Amino acid sequence: MQTFRYQALPTRVLFGTGTLSALAGECAALGVKRAMVLTTPQQADLAERASRLLGSIDAGHFTDAAMHTPVEVTERAMEHLTRIRADGIVSLGGGSTIGLGKAIALRTDLPQIVVPTTYAGSEMTPIIGQTEQGRKTTQRSPHVQPESVIYDVSLTLTLPSGASVRSGLNAIAHAAEALYADNGNPITSLMAEEGIRAITEALPVILSDAGDIAARGKALYGAWLCGSCLGQVDMGLHHKLCHVLGGSFDLPHAETHSVILPHAIAYNRVAKPAMARLARALATDEAPWTALHLLARGLNAPLALRDLGLPESAIPEAVEIACANTYPNPRPLDRAPLELLLRAAWAGDPPS
Ligand code: NAD
Repeated sequence: MQTFRYQALPTRVLFGTGTLSALAGECAALGVKRAMVLTTPQQADLAERASRLLGSIDAGHFTDAAMHTPVEVTERAMEHLTRIRADGIVSLGGGSTIGLGKAIALRTDLPQIVVPTTYAGSEMTPIIGQTEQGRKTTQRSPHVQPESVIYDVSLTLTLPSGASVRSGLNAIAHAAEALYADNGNPITSLMAEEGIRAITEALPVILSDAGDIAARGKALYGAWLCGSCLGQVDMGLHHKLCHVLGGSFDLPHAETHSVILPHAIAYNRVAKPAMARLARALATDEAPWTALHLLARGLNAPLALRDLGLPESAIPEAVEIACANTYPNPRPLDRAPLELLLRAAWAGDPPS
């Protein structure tokens, strides 16, 4: 029998359609009387909607959230927070907006009510990545784990189908790596399998009809489970490579996950029980890395790092950075096979 440790994370979750209407109640339950509402500039209209629901609890908006949580943006948000004397944070959006809310919580320990509108999963994790002078650093802190998450499926209908696919593959990556995490456990693995299954079934439907509410519900449910996996156990090679490519070479987050995933899984094929569970979740008789490549191709997801703007000449440096720190992974990180991996991913070749 396996000996394991399971740490449940203390986030309350409300899941459904039209659940944004519970926003004021969730704030009240956490004792929030003056909420600061966060969005990206692209989702500022959502802040207006939240404002109408919050009524007198709405203390003000900050709509400048940006990718990779730049410290400069956080500092401006902190000044706004002090000016409006907010005592709670409402984050409406994807990982970028949620990241800003977490950055504020890290500095203030204020409660966060998060309404995710992508499948990236940050709302279920105690992880925060921040960028300063071009360097992205990541840490885990219980202070950034959101107190309350409202999943409202109707808010995901506006996420374009291409972005939905990329974001869904990002979620699958969290669950796939959880299956071979060195601190994995049977509960997280159950969530991982179910999350991968739900998203894999939902994405083809969303690609053909972005307004299919049943598929949207399935994808968001899967994203919740996959995000929980990310929050509960350590990630391996795949997340490390994406962190290096995003942080040091400025590649876009979800797209990079789409490209790297089949290759990282192929690299880690030595984790045989995890591969069997992954194949089962993907409902495939193929090797899971082949199935992931075919899934991404069938969904018109990016397949090549060169298409994301990485120069081929950057590959040796990326390998160097990826190997610089040790971290848990089922297969040791060796420069030569990692370079082969990145060259295949750069060219868009199938994983081997
Ligand atoms: P994002 O938050 O950057 O969103 C991308 C764009 O889509 C933004 O312009 C946003 O406003 C828009 N958008 C979001 N939802 C929409 C919707 N429903 N309809 C229309 N437009 C919508 O993208 P993301 O992939 O969710 O987040 C990426 C960031 O999150 C990265 O910085 C990544 O590092 C971070 N992240 C962190 C964690 C963690 O646990 N800390 C986990 C996953 C991702």
